[in-house]
Amino acid sequence: MPRKPIVGGNWKCNPVEHAKLPDLVKNFSGCDEAILAKCDVYVCPSNLHLAMVHDKFNAGIMVTPQNCNFKGCGAYTGEMAVDQMVDLGLKCCLIGHSERRGEFGLPTPKESDELLATKAAYILEKGLLCVYCIGEPLPLREKGLDALMAEAIIPQLAVLVPLLKGLEDKSRLVIAYEPVWAIGTGVTASPEQAQETHKAIRDWIAANVDQKTADEVRIQYGGSANAKNAPELSACPDIDGFLVGGASLKPEIMDVIKAIA
Ligand code: PEP
Repeated sequence: MPRKPIVGGNWKCNPVEHAKLPDLVKNFSGCDEAILAKCDVYVCPSNLHLAMVHDKFNAGIMVTPQNCNFKGCGAYTGEMAVDQMVDLGLKCCLIGHSERRGEFGLPTPKESDELLATKAAYILEKGLLCVYCIGEPLPLREKGLDALMAEAIIPQLAVLVPLLKGLEDKSRLVIAYEPVWAIGTGVTASPEQAQETHKAIRDWIAANVDQKTADEVRIQYGGSANAKNAPELSACPDIDGFLVGGASLKPEIMDVIKAIA
């Protein structure tokens, strides 16, 4: 079965005024049944705004938290439990964004691969779809594909192997490949760079999990994806969708969705 494309909009910690939320929701109003039959769509509002908008989108759009805790409800100040997401009827959770892996430019603790694997297991166990972000910093990209795979991507993927092996429906774990140097910078990986990295990720999964998983797992590209570059990136055989930051706060998000749907 061909992989169904998937596009996500990551609003990060935006907007400032909640009064702007209806306009941001409206940017996704073109996601009708016909589009959603061809492409999965999720949106990640900020933690504070999520519960205000989770029932405001067209049916089928998955409203998705940008993080979760690793365990459940209880004495976990400042955290969000997947059990609470289940109760709200949410279907998807995103974890491992590079900004949580220590790329804030602030001395906040980095989330480790082991912690993220624990969170991913918890998300999957509760029946949600898990979007798992990975990516490499610029110095590794400059060293070439082998180095960036060995030093960044493979360690990030290796912790997922038991989960991928045990997962019956491989579409429930989505890998978002986001080169850190392309996030929020306006610099996009070229289609050649993105395709060769997506293929290397898929080949690694084939060798270390199995061919069926490699064929079925969806790999999104993230990093300054927009209406202009989405058509060319969509034509790459191993790119199954996009995780979009800045452009998901604008009407052009529909063009990105349509490009791959
Ligand atoms: C992101 O936040 O995941 C992202 C890819 O941001 P941008 O599209 O703004 O680079």
